[in-house]
Order: sequence, then structure tokens, then C-alpha cells
Amino acid sequence: MKRFALIGDPLGHSLSPALHKAIYRQLEIDDASYRAIELNSDKLHGFFAGFRVGGFDGINVTIPHKSSVIAMLDEVDAKAKLINAVNCINRHRNQLTGYNTDMLGFAHSLRNNAGVIENNRFVIVGAGGSALAVGAVLAEGGAKSITIVNRSEERAEYLRDTVLKLNKDVVVELANESDLHDQKGSFHCLINATSVGTSPNVSESALENVGAIVDDSTLVFDLIYNPSETKLIKDARAVGANTVNGLEMLIAQAVYSVEIWMGGNVVAHIDMNCLVKELEKLLGSKSK
Ligand code: NAP
Repeated sequence: MKRFALIGDPLGHSLSPALHKAIYRQLEIDDASYRAIELNSDKLHGFFAGFRVGGFDGINVTIPHKSSVIAMLDEVDAKAKLINAVNCINRHRNQLTGYNTDMLGFAHSLRNNAGVIENNRFVIVGAGGSALAVGAVLAEGGAKSITIVNRSEERAEYLRDTVLKLNKDVVVELANESDLHDQKGSFHCLINATSVGTSPNVSESALENVGAIVDDSTLVFDLIYNPSETKLIKDARAVGANTVNGLEMLIAQAVYSVEIWMGGNVVAHIDMNCLVKELEKLLGSKSK
């Protein structure tokens, strides 16, 4: 039996165990288990000691441990190292290697929703761990410009520097929301990578007036998947923008994790739409 897990704190009602079980079912893998383990920072070292000697075959990592686990690994994929965030760890014998599949998941979902990176203009709202993954994907894909809107200027500057390390030709600007009002409709895609608007705070939005920035030529991508329609997404739809939530990204990062752990071309053999429907049903029943 292969054993996998998600570690984080808090985990709440994580979708990941159900998601991984659905992936194993589709792949007809019946000798794998996946569970969510709520683990605070004090317990991290003890957990890794057991993981390394065979406690688990692979783990996913979420808030707040994505950076702190790096010190406990033998090897880290170059991109994960650059954005200082690991969300997937593979164990081979007693060697641990870290990866970032949030980047792969975001790139997959953006592509699937007609997001074209090369030579296009983007807005990233947020500058935390997931914004770094988004920024790295856009930099590598050859975005023309990235405008960063974030509460903390220091984190926005770190995101800008990370993007420029990957691609010095991207024009990166830090802005306030109101600075963008006179550029309405000029961005190909606006991405919300903050946690503002996540259930139960569904009346909040990361932007006061997204309708003053986007129009029917813009793709608005909210990394939040619960609720499936954040206030930001509703406001963007009201002015005709195309929208996508974070569910497909969540699913794709999990599928890429399974590919890292089990080998083979898992992505090509998975019906993502079927997983999206399954998880939407689960989210719907949880919010009732
Ligand atoms: P993080 O590292 O903690 O960053 C949080 C971001 O939200 C920061 O930019 C922070 O701004 C901003 N923020 C938080 N509260 C705010 C407030 N009240 N007002 C303004 N800004 C606020 O978290 P993360 O890992 O990047 O995750 C961000 C979101 O993406 C979460 O909702 C998470 O669930 C989602 N996510 C989704 C996926 C997926 O697969 N769909 C994957 C990863 C993350 P400051 O820098 O100013 O603190």
C-alpha cells in the first residue's frame, strides 16, 4: 500500500483526500491511501523524521509550511526553490525531493481557459505564496507586463524581484487599485491570488471595483474555489468578463503531484472535467 498525505494548519474540511481518492479511482489504483494531517510548526520535524524512513511515499504541503519544509529536503526543484515554496514532496528510499505543482496547476488551468501568456498584459492581485507561483508562470511564458496590486508593499516588491529574476524583459509595476481605472480593458487577464472573499467571508472582495478595470475582453481568474463564485467573479461577470475559479487549478496540481509520485503520464490519462464535476458536487453539499 502506498501512503500519501496533505500537511497544513489549519486544514478545515480539506477537499484533497476526496480529490486524490477520485484520481486513484479513475486510474484504477487500489493500493494507495491519502489523508489530511493537521500539523503545527512544532510537529514538523518529528513528522519529517517518520516520513523520511518510510512513513509516507509522498506528501502535499499547504499553508503555513510551504517554505519551512524546504530546509528538511535533500533536493528542491529549481523553480520551487526560486519561489521558495514547495507543495509536493516525493520520497525515494530515504531521499526527499520538493516540487511546486501549484505552478503547473495554474499554467494548466490558464491554458484551458484560453489564457495566452506571451506578449500579453496581466494584473496579479496579491503577493503571497500562490502569487509567486502565478508570477513565475507568467514570467516564464513571456508575459509583456505584470502589474502587482497588494496590501503589503514589501511582499509586492519581492514578487516583482522574483519575476524579474526569471525574465528581465517583463515590465513589472506596483500599483494601487485606483491606478488601474484609466486602463480599463487593457489587460488580457486579472488574477486574484489573495484569500479575500474565501468562504465564509463571501461578501468581501480583493478589489473594491473590479468592474472599473476589466471588460468583456478580460479573463478574470480567481484562485479561490470556495465559494465557486466569489464577489470578485460576480462583479467581473456583471461587466461581461470571462471568469474562472481555482477549482481546476486545485485539481490539476493534485494530478501533477500524482504524476510525480507514481510516474507515467498521469495528466494525459485523467478526465479533468469529470473531477471538476465530482468536486463541484462535493463543495455544493458542504456549503448546504
Ligand atoms: P498567502 O501566502 O498567505 O498570501 C495571502 C495573500 O492575500 C497576500 O497577498 C495578502 O496580502 C493577501 N491578503 C490576505 N488578507 C487580506 C486582506 N484582508 N486584505 C488584502 N489582502 C489580503 O496565501 P496563498 O498561499 O498565496 O493563498 C492565497 C489564496 O489562493 C488562498 O485563498 C488559497 O486558498 C488560494 N490558493 C488556491 C490554489 C488552487 O489550487 N486553486 C492554490 C494555492 C492557493 P499581504 O501580503 O498584504 O499580507
